[in-house]
Amino acid sequence: MADQDIEQVIIVGSGPAGYTAALYTARANLSPLVIEGFMWGGLLQQTTDVENYPGFPKGIDGPELMQSFRDQAERFGARFITEDATRVEPGADGEPHTVWVDDQPYRARTVILSMGAQHKKLGVPGEEELAGRGVSYCATCDAAFFRDRETIIVGGGDSAMEEAMFLSKFSSTVTVIHRRDEFRASKIMLDRARGVDNIEWLTPYAVEEFLPGDDGPGLRKVRVRHAETGETRELTAHGAFMAIGHEPQPEIVRDVVELDENGYVITEGRSTRTGVPGIFAAGDLVDHTYRQAITAAGSGCQAALDAEWYLRDSPMVPTPEVLAQAGSLVEAQYAPGR
Ligand code: NAP
Repeated sequence: MADQDIEQVIIVGSGPAGYTAALYTARANLSPLVIEGFMWGGLLQQTTDVENYPGFPKGIDGPELMQSFRDQAERFGARFITEDATRVEPGADGEPHTVWVDDQPYRARTVILSMGAQHKKLGVPGEEELAGRGVSYCATCDAAFFRDRETIIVGGGDSAMEEAMFLSKFSSTVTVIHRRDEFRASKIMLDRARGVDNIEWLTPYAVEEFLPGDDGPGLRKVRVRHAETGETRELTAHGAFMAIGHEPQPEIVRDVVELDENGYVITEGRSTRTGVPGIFAAGDLVDHTYRQAITAAGSGCQAALDAEWYLRDSPMVPTPEVLAQAGSLVEAQYAPGR
């Protein structure tokens, strides 16, 4: 591979962190290549109203926000590959790193990882079998399939409140099932959800099993258990939506960079540097504390600056092809008889 084929920066993944890293590296004239993923835009693509992103006093749709992020990066020269990266291979001794999309390699001096997070699964019987047949992780995507049906939401955070309110516009009733009596959700979201007539509440209960009916392969019932008494009961539900948080997506770098016990990429101090020179990480892939669109965008900016400074401070190691070419030029120049 010739040196001109080696990118300065490859960004793996999209969402607020990846697109902000793309914007900043593009504006630094580094012409970033963004391997943004087939499902580009990250979790915000599955959100309706984003009310807490500064600069949008009336709120903005998640997908619209992500499209704007992407457009802004593209305007300054970011390039996109709308496929999933399948492997990251670190370069040895300052040599370029390689990001693979199936069997197509892309080489770069720096790589910014921003693969984000995905919805957490409950891990109870019936969940996998009934996924797509009543069990869902995205009310915004699937609520309309449950018009005038009974549905449940599992979880007690802001996502659960948001999804319950969205679902309540379609479902006959939405029951929020949460494992504790206290809610993690912000007061404003909880109060709003509590004010909706067809949202019901079941606490402290844990879902034990999702059950199909006799009339086909779809979800019809959910078995729940009281967290303190152990009492179990079954509820009718045609739709069940998990809103129990997220987990990072480090699969393609599991053996490349250091991860903590929950799978988050570990970075050095307040920087976005991983332990591998030239590989940086940002956004929900790293952050188990704040997990906001605005903090992800901020860390994408940090990763872009860290990559830019790394490129400035690390002279490029010539590839064997360049050395060979340089060698033959020198030979030609000093050949006897010239
Ligand atoms: P979260 O705040 O981590 O809440 C997850 C909820 O799921 C918690 O109530 C947790 O219960 C429950 N849970 C976790 N694992 C469970 C399990 N195995 N079984 C049963 N329940 C389980 O996640 P989130 O609601 O997705 O929110 C993530 C971040 O995004 C938060 O910072 C939130 O403020 C933000 N957010 C903001 C908005 C908005 O402002 N419009 C909307 C959505 C999200 P425990 O409480 O018992 O741990």
